[in-house]
Amino acid sequence: MTAPQSDSSRALRVVVIGAGMAGILATIKLVEAGFSDVTVYEKGDHIGGTWRDNTYPGIACDVPSHLYSYSFAPNPDWSHTFSPGPEIRAYFERVAEEYGVTDRVRLGEAVQRCEYLDGRWHIETSGGTRDAVDVVIAATGVLHHPKYPDLDGLDSFAGAVFHSARWDHSVPLDGARVGVIGTGSTAVQITGAVAACAAQYSLFQRTAQWVMPVANSEYSEEEREQFRANPDQLMQAHENLAIAFGGFAGAVIDSESVGMAMIERMCLENLETVRDEALRERLRPTYRAGCKRLVVSPNFYETMQQPNVELVTSEIAHVEPGGVRTEDGVLHELDVLVLATGFHADAFVRPMGVIGEDGKDLADEWAERPNAYLSVAVPGFPNFFMINGPNGPVGNFSLIEVAEIQFAYILQLVEQLAEGPNRAVSPTVAAMDAHEAARVEAAQHSIWVTGCQSWYLDDRGIPATWPWTFDRFREVMATPDPSAFETA
Ligand code: NAP
Repeated sequence: MTAPQSDSSRALRVVVIGAGMAGILATIKLVEAGFSDVTVYEKGDHIGGTWRDNTYPGIACDVPSHLYSYSFAPNPDWSHTFSPGPEIRAYFERVAEEYGVTDRVRLGEAVQRCEYLDGRWHIETSGGTRDAVDVVIAATGVLHHPKYPDLDGLDSFAGAVFHSARWDHSVPLDGARVGVIGTGSTAVQITGAVAACAAQYSLFQRTAQWVMPVANSEYSEEEREQFRANPDQLMQAHENLAIAFGGFAGAVIDSESVGMAMIERMCLENLETVRDEALRERLRPTYRAGCKRLVVSPNFYETMQQPNVELVTSEIAHVEPGGVRTEDGVLHELDVLVLATGFHADAFVRPMGVIGEDGKDLADEWAERPNAYLSVAVPGFPNFFMINGPNGPVGNFSLIEVAEIQFAYILQLVEQLAEGPNRAVSPTVAAMDAHEAARVEAAQHSIWVTGCQSWYLDDRGIPATWPWTFDRFREVMATPDPSAFETA
């Protein structure tokens, strides 16, 4: 397939911001569609996004690997149901190389400003590059900017302290006294990998989690060989997992669903494996399963019962040179303190400066909270598209599948621009507002509002995510509705 040609057609220069999963995808699809003038600006010194930044021990993806793969690049060689982070990073690097993305990436170039002037986006990067382009694809990630806890004395800690997404691999863990703050998916994965080698392991829990026991089995060489020899079987594995995940996603949008009851029961049975009653009760969540993002682990409770592991539930009072002091007066002496305290989930393209039509500043548009039409575009910001933008289906689907569907939608708009005669396209305010009103209404019926704090919730306590089924997402995103866009 090539870019459409007609009398009014024109060659577009496209910039993709970010060389993570979504940026690699967008570049592959643009080039495949015939857009040859595509450059990727990447602020890091390496491609890979999340999988470059997160290198903590135990890192894996809790979406099964055969689903967490591009649909067009299935991988027969996945080692596990949930393969480890370095393998996932290597997968993205390999695909980027094979599809010619790597050569288009300009590393160490953080886009600092994009301004729409005279029908083009003018780009400035940290490396001093100035570029003028027709279309911008922001693939800047979602859970990207680490959130540091506001704890008194944190700077005074005499040992090593770092965020889970900024792991310091020079710090030895063997025989060390390690503390981890947080009990999200990240902290639980770290716990499974680090507790066994630490002399003492302290997990600081502010809120107990629901933990789903899912085994992580290894694919045998025979199984991998079968996948290699039978591409259809490989595709089928992807499809089966997509259907299973669709079921899970369908459950969480309806807090009274049978699926939710089943998930809750499985987690409760898992909790019953904690033999000590007092510990079991301290690990018992007091809100509904799925309200926070469900944690998946084959061994969390087993690890928490090891003799060198302590669960700390007294609130953190402050940090001091020797460790973490809790409100009950106990000093938890530590050599290493890991902050598995999550991310600023509402940052999206920020802090990049984005100035649209008539000097409209995205920072002002999003001063209250970020918003976008179907998560992909913002009124007044023509030819600027986002993958995994605000209020999209994040957290309960495979983000790759989401990105593929969103980009297929965006690509249709870009192809229309290339065809002409229109040179600019952006959603209408009315379309964005109508979508947002429906979204907010539907979100009130989801499991995410049943009484917990989580990164899903915006400043009003409304889930900043897609509150409908995955089928509906696929349907709505199949083709852009012309009446939702204005063109020039
Ligand atoms: P998170 O889910 O936001 O968890 C942060 C944890 O830190 C929570 O337990 C929170 O407690 C705690 N915390 C934050 N500030 C604190 C403070 N001042 N004092 C004490 N505790 C504090 O972050 P995450 O674990 O990094 O995970 C974020 C998301 O990344 C996940 O939900 C998931 O979507 C994604 N992720 C995915 C995978 C995967 O395998 N696909 C792996 C890791 C992460 P409260 O609960 O009380 O707020």
